[in-house]
Amino acid sequence: MLRDLIRKYVESEVVPQGEAWEIEGMIPRSILKQMGELGLLGLRYPEKYGGSNLDMLASVVLAEEMGRSTFGGFTATVLVHTDMASPHLINAGNKYQVEKYLPSIIAGDLITAIAVTEPDAGSDVAGMKTRAIQDGDHWVLNGSKMFITNGVHADLYFVAAKTDRAARGSRGITIFIVEKGTPGFTVGRALDKMGWRSSDTAELAFDNCRVPEENILGEVNRGFYAIMQNFQNERLVLGAQALGEAQKALELTLDYVKQREAFGARLWAKQAIRQRLAQRLAEVEAGRQLCYHAAWLDSQGVDCVKEVSMVKAYCGELVNRVLYDCQQFHGGFGYMRESTIERMVRDARVQSIGGGATEVMLEEVAKRV
Ligand SMILES: Cc1cc2nc3c(=O)[nH]c(=O)nc-3n(C[C@H](O)[C@H](O)[C@H](O)COP(=O)(O)OP(=O)(O)OC[C@H]3O[C@@H](n4cnc5c(N)ncnc54)[C@H](O)[C@@H]3O)c2cc1C
Repeated sequence: MLRDLIRKYVESEVVPQGEAWEIEGMIPRSILKQMGELGLLGLRYPEKYGGSNLDMLASVVLAEEMGRSTFGGFTATVLVHTDMASPHLINAGNKYQVEKYLPSIIAGDLITAIAVTEPDAGSDVAGMKTRAIQDGDHWVLNGSKMFITNGVHADLYFVAAKTDRAARGSRGITIFIVEKGTPGFTVGRALDKMGWRSSDTAELAFDNCRVPEENILGEVNRGFYAIMQNFQNERLVLGAQALGEAQKALELTLDYVKQREAFGARLWAKQAIRQRLAQRLAEVEAGRQLCYHAAWLDSQGVDCVKEVSMVKAYCGELVNRVLYDCQQFHGGFGYMRESTIERMVRDARVQSIGGGATEVMLEEVAKRV
């Protein structure tokens, strides 16, 4: 039922408007609000705050179906809010913080962003330089964050900063809730990206930004572990998004090669083409089963860092392989800006980089075998 609801929503409200959002470089608030009203922004959150109390598989279904929209920027905007940023609040927030923010997050009135990456520290989270120093009942933040999705349009930012510079990187990080408009916090312009163009991505600057103590999220100096815990969720939905995109691209390509003719026959009649597509369909199916399996392990409370890292590594690469072939079999048309496949090729590229690059994911697998 959930899949059906999301698919219909995507087809009627997202696909017809997606091109306009690509040009504007953002998803309108009205859409996020609409998704909130449909209950799509709080699938895993407690019912008392407006959520649906479902498990990890619900997030996977949401990500797959959003991925099928063919607009990666739209998908990223939504999934960062639902599955990458706001989970920090429910995982580590105290009752006061959760009650203050979560109902508006689920309703789509308050959009969230997660700010970990910096100009000089991405994969190496512990290497971050943004620092926070306690001053009475406030903490003073200085530094900058880079490539932050929803950076321009978010209302609420979960910002990681070093709070113990003497401690080893992973031991001295804390997460702060920073509201837009806090003095000393500025948002740079939206960055100009190769793909995900309807998602806004920005650099954030903190210049003696005073954050009240009550906005500390979770325990002081334990933020690194909270980030690592939440990465599991983030990486699983990014894998599922990649699978939705790959599946949809293959369907579009099947339609194309079944009607396009060359050398007196449909492209589909060429064994080389149909075998390659059949191979990719098998790989996508394999990725999907791994992804569902990891989601199931997660919902049983089983440690599945290895499986989730496999999902992220495998699906991030797979969607690029699939899109390469889909573009190839679309011929010159697949290279034109007006073709859906061309946009999907550009959108896919970041899937093996963002949220844990393939090599970093493979290191996580290697550590566990
Ligand atoms: C469109 C977009 C949106 C993003 N949104 C957010 C967001 O909302 N919040 C946020 O905090 N961050 C965000 N990011 C940042 C993203 O997660 C990082 O770009 C990613 O983690 C890689 O970090 P980096 O860019 O610093 O690359 P680096 O860490 O400098 O790595 C560069 C490359 O080196 C390789 N590499 C790195 N480490 C290893 C290793 N140990 N072994 C072998 N090879 C390695 C990988 O191929 C990697 O791609 C976003 C990025 C993009 C592009």
